[in-house]
This record gives sequence, C-alpha cells and structure tokens, in this order.
Amino acid sequence: MSEHEFTIKTTDLDAGGKEFRFPIRAPWVRGAFEGHEATAADTDGLLSVRASKSGHDVVVHGTLDAPLRLPCARCLEPFTFALHTDISVMYVPGSKAKTTTEEGEAEYTLADAEADTLPYDGETVVLDDLVRDELVLGVPMIPLCSDDCTGMSPAPGSRAEVSSTAKSIDPRLAPLLAFREKTTKT
Ligand SMILES: [Zn+2]
Repeated sequence: MSEHEFTIKTTDLDAGGKEFRFPIRAPWVRGAFEGHEATAADTDGLLSVRASKSGHDVVVHGTLDAPLRLPCARCLEPFTFALHTDISVMYVPGSKAKTTTEEGEAEYTLADAEADTLPYDGETVVLDDLVRDELVLGVPMIPLCSDDCTGMSPAPGSRAEVSSTAKSIDPRLAPLLAFREKTTKT
C-alpha cells in the first residue's frame, strides 16, 4: 500500500533519455482525491514521460492524461472531464533541493524559476507527489459539463427555457437551415 506508484530508477537512464508509460489507475486517483469533490472515472489515465539524466539530476518531460468525474458547477450533474496536462520537472538529489536555512545557502542556487525542481534520493525518482499535485491542480475552478450547459433543469411548466435544437443554432445559419429544409422536402 505504501509502495510508490510511479518510479524511475536512475540506473536505467542515460543522457539520451528513456520513455516511460505508467497507467494511472482509477483506485490510485481516487486516493489522490480523497476529501475532494473530484474523483476517478472508471477508466485508467496515462502518464507518459521521457526521463533523462543530466549529471546527477533527472529531467522529466511528458504528459499526463486522466479521466475524472466532476460535478458540473451549473447543473450539478457529474460528468467526465478529460484532464490533460504537460509535465516538466527536474529532480535533483535530496540535499541540493533542501531549502532549509541550516543547509549551506550556496547549494541553493538552482535555477528553480525555469522549471519545477523536486528532490529525489539520488537513486529512484518518485513521481507520485507530482502526479497527485498535477491532478488536483488540473481540476478546473468552474467545471462545466459543456460550454453551453443551461444549469439546473427548469421547473416543469417553464417550457420556454428548455433548449430546443432550433434555439442552439446560430441565427446567422438560419437561412441555410431554411434552405436545407426546403431542399430535403422536395
Ligand atoms: Zn452542467
């Protein structure tokens, strides 16, 4: 249970880099979102990265895709959101990434402004925390089941508010629609 889900051994790497594809299992995603409104969809996601060594550092680039179940902010119905985000991180051996002031400050001269810099133990890069953070940060502030979600279903009786196909058609296309109806009828 405490085993890490996404790990890369530096002994497998060289400067040329290597591709890694990890399934992001739905149960793991569910754990990552514990106490959160979002949760995993039924299908697994995919973490696809290229890792390469740069001295003692490990550079990880790639993409993260995960289907999530979220409640729509307007109609409150759960829907599936396809989270997609880019990953770009540099892992540095633990002591170098320490920001504590007891450590020599000279060590902390990494260009952490240009890329996310995370620590690792020098042997195994663990991507779990990164994936968890990216999942949580990737959830939209105002998730919508669709851009033109009309919100809560109108009360019965207010039929005029129910979106019909005619309503959703761009008024500029109305003449075309009329033309099509005329031609298909003949
Ligand atoms: Zn909605």
